[in-house]
Amino acid sequence: MMSEKTDILTRTTEELKSDMEAFGEKSFRAKQIYEWLHVHHVVSFSEMTNLSAVLRTKLDEHFRIPSLQTLEVLTSGIDGTKKFLFALEDGNVIESVLMRYSYGISVCISSQVGCRMGCRFCASTIGGKVRDLTSSEMLCQVTEIARQTGERVSHVVIMGSGEPLDNYENLVRFLRIIGDPEGERLSLRDITVSTCGIVPNIRALADEKLPVTLALSLHAPSQEKRERLLPVSVKYRLPEVMDAMRYYFAKTGRRITFEYSCVEGENTSPEDAAELADLLRGMNCHVNLIPVNPVKERSYRRPDRREIEAFRRMLEKRGISVTIRREMGRDINGACGQLRRSYLGN
Ligand code: SAH
Repeated sequence: MMSEKTDILTRTTEELKSDMEAFGEKSFRAKQIYEWLHVHHVVSFSEMTNLSAVLRTKLDEHFRIPSLQTLEVLTSGIDGTKKFLFALEDGNVIESVLMRYSYGISVCISSQVGCRMGCRFCASTIGGKVRDLTSSEMLCQVTEIARQTGERVSHVVIMGSGEPLDNYENLVRFLRIIGDPEGERLSLRDITVSTCGIVPNIRALADEKLPVTLALSLHAPSQEKRERLLPVSVKYRLPEVMDAMRYYFAKTGRRITFEYSCVEGENTSPEDAAELADLLRGMNCHVNLIPVNPVKERSYRRPDRREIEAFRRMLEKRGISVTIRREMGRDINGACGQLRRSYLGN
């Protein structure tokens, strides 16, 4: 039965080495297999031509090489952003996005099917969480997009549907595999993990020695205002989240990113700017302002452009490094979870 076989794309080189030992094979075979999988991206064991027929058969008996099925690709007429709708092997549907920047190609991946964090303005969370993605389902979003477009993906952001730090083990496994110099070879420095603030796992990630960039979905400068937008902040309060982010910086030396979705009437007043600047004072960080993407099930709207510009200037005046995020793929359901929802017929 298919499902009883182990997904080989979730195996690290070390694990493949012990698999080879268990098979009575030399451990260098692990490296060869890893290279077939993560450099050449083969889809079957029969393509692994430097292995014996016996070993290939053995691999085939124990393992499977999973893949994603592409249901739909939408290309933005505005900026060339592409949104991919993929079916997983169990029929669940996820979405990923390719964005073109001056510095390269960035792919935004999902970490869960749905999400259970409940952020008020986010479409991904409306139907709740269905399940976690495996590390290989995260990886295949990147490799499948690279394969289809024939382009090298230079950056990965884990900012699609789901909360990566609510799927911690699979996330870390994914990061180790995608950053492995014997395989995919992405620089971990070019990978951003975005979290709504799961404090214990921010601290755990800081201790993993994986130099990824960590982005916090801050969205408000005070505990009280943050609770209105992010229910998770009732459990993980702002002071503890900020302490964890400082810990992350202290351990990794990676500059922190703060995401701040601008919502009309909620978080872009001059008082908010002053409070935010106080909150971030002295931190090595950058603020990304994101005009909120209206989701049809929710009533949140974006402030007008001038108000966002004014908010940015107020932060800059107070010495905060800040940009207004360029919007990508607005014409193709660009925001988190929107395409999947429209596909599911909601
Ligand atoms: N769960 C993670 C990553 C997924 S969301 C997190 O919370 O960070 C990626 C970013 O997009 C988060 O900052 C999220 O708050 C924001 N976001 C989600 N829906 C949005 C919308 N409709 N408009 C603007 N930003 C949104």
